[in-house]
Amino acid sequence: IGAMVLPYATSTRISVILILPVSIFAMAAGLRFWRVGSQSARLFTVAWFSILIGVSAGVLNRLGFLEHTFFIDYGIQLGTTAQTLLFSLALATRFNSERDARMHAQQDYVEEIRKRRDVEMQLIHSASHHEITGLPNRVLLERSVREYVENTEDEDAHLLLVLLHVRRFDDVNKTLGHRNADVLLRRIGERVNQVVSSAQTCLPLEKKHGEVTHVAHVEGVSFCFCMTGDNKQHMLVHVESLVESMTTPIEFMGLSLELSFLVGSSFDDEGRDPQALLRQAFIAFDQSNSPVAVYAAEMNPYSPKRLTLMTELRSAIEYDGLSLNFQPQVKLGNSSVCGFEALLRWSHHEFGFVPPDEFIPMAEKTGLMKALTRWVLCRAAEFCQQLEGVSCDACVSVNISALNLREANFCRRVCDILDEYKVPHHRIILEVTETAAMFDPESALQVLNELNEAGLRLSIDDFGTGHSSLSYIRQLPVQEIKIDRSFVGEMDTQAGDATIVKTTINMCHDLGFEVVAEGVENAAIVDMLAAMGCDIIQGYHIARPMTLDDTMAWLKNSQWHSALRSKSSHG
Ligand code: C2E
Ligand code: CA
Ligand code: CA
Repeated sequence: IGAMVLPYATSTRISVILILPVSIFAMAAGLRFWRVGSQSARLFTVAWFSILIGVSAGVLNRLGFLEHTFFIDYGIQLGTTAQTLLFSLALATRFNSERDARMHAQQDYVEEIRKRRDVEMQLIHSASHHEITGLPNRVLLERSVREYVENTEDEDAHLLLVLLHVRRFDDVNKTLGHRNADVLLRRIGERVNQVVSSAQTCLPLEKKHGEVTHVAHVEGVSFCFCMTGDNKQHMLVHVESLVESMTTPIEFMGLSLELSFLVGSSFDDEGRDPQALLRQAFIAFDQSNSPVAVYAAEMNPYSPKRLTLMTELRSAIEYDGLSLNFQPQVKLGNSSVCGFEALLRWSHHEFGFVPPDEFIPMAEKTGLMKALTRWVLCRAAEFCQQLEGVSCDACVSVNISALNLREANFCRRVCDILDEYKVPHHRIILEVTETAAMFDPESALQVLNELNEAGLRLSIDDFGTGHSSLSYIRQLPVQEIKIDRSFVGEMDTQAGDATIVKTTINMCHDLGFEVVAEGVENAAIVDMLAAMGCDIIQGYHIARPMTLDDTMAWLKNSQWHSALRSKSSHG
């Protein structure tokens, strides 16, 4: 700008004078950025250095301090040229580094998208797979079933959903710890999937890396798979054989662990909605003891009838909507009435007679067992008082559930009731099924011991139907064993049943138990039982369960001599 308005020599001088501080300042700035690591700052510093050298050489030459040489004479021009070149280089370097930075930014962006996609895939995976076994979960199962239903052309084929629940896994948790139990669960999942995948007719749920998964892990220790086929019976037999192959022991941590499954299943008779099928399969295994429980509409605890009954059971207990029937028991030795079994009855205003086998499991499921047993005990105690009124000292048997044995202070509650009604403890016999006594053997034994010490008598009900071991039963403080009616009812025609009854009587006598045979329906059976040495009999042949009034009337007129009569006749 100076050259346009000022004489050439003046403007040159001004430029030279300005160049010195400007280049020193620029170099200092350059050095600072160089130290921080900037590439172009290096070139920038060297550029300003070269012009500083060139100009300094020129000035010193003019002032006569340096001799004339080509480089010194053209110092300013050479310095400027070097600066221009270096600036271009610096600019190029800067462009390069900016481009690199842009490329890195782009790569980072792509990497971030990839990471985000991985996270999304992981989320999708965990939303559709079980966290422990990595098998498809309920969501994926339901989706696969829906896809199958939408795409299948074979409308006549049955669809069967099978639910497998690993039994006694809680014991594994307690023994091996949760971490090991998780590893074992993964192994079980692999085993189940391997077995199911070998069947041609099972529905594939997922294909990944060339492998097909057929089993879903729907919750806790429950696995599920679906099968299609034309013949329901064949399908169930097939499922049974698959389950059988799953149960070979697993070697784990040096142990050989037996596997056992509860199996519930549901055919698509009521529709092919996967959620409904799964719910029905859960209901099936909740309600049945067969190896492969199959859902049937009447099992549904959420049917309108069951829902009504469940809600009304509580008020039936509270407001005496229930009643007790009594069925006599006769001692074979002297043909005297020695006891009565108290049996619950519920006559519903809408549905009529509801069998106890139907509403007692409901009471167990809805937490009403405590109140129900309390109610029965009170009525049984009243009945004892009435018997006393006619000088009958027969015992009264009351059925109790496995849940009662797990109630806190059950023994004290029973004693309190009996004391309130002033009934001697030995007049009440508590009947427990084998299965109930085996449910939690240690604590059951403790409660039964307490009851025994309190003077109550104990009886094992339905003997022969459970899988209890005699070695366990003999430890129990019980006085009486009741042989199940399924062995007694037809023992006059079924030789096998008669043998079982005879052996059971002998065995129980050896162990010091009294034996009651229930379900005695005719005189022939009475004779057989008498010959076998059975102690007590109960059944329709003597009397059906009766209302309180009928029982009192029966006691007066019955052909079976009551304890009262036999006493008076001896007296
Ligand atoms: P259970 O304890 O085995 O009761 C005997 C069942 O056999 C009764 O059925 C009785 O009516 C029936 N029975 C008696 N004699 C004969 C006979 O000669 N032939 C045949 N075929 N059956 C006979 P019920 O009253 O329907 O009771 C069924 C089950 O309900 C009982 O089986 C018992 O497990 C349960 N139950 C009944 N009352 C109570 C109760 O108060 N509390 C508890 N926890 N369970 C009860
Ligand atoms: Ca019973
Ligand atoms: Ca029984």
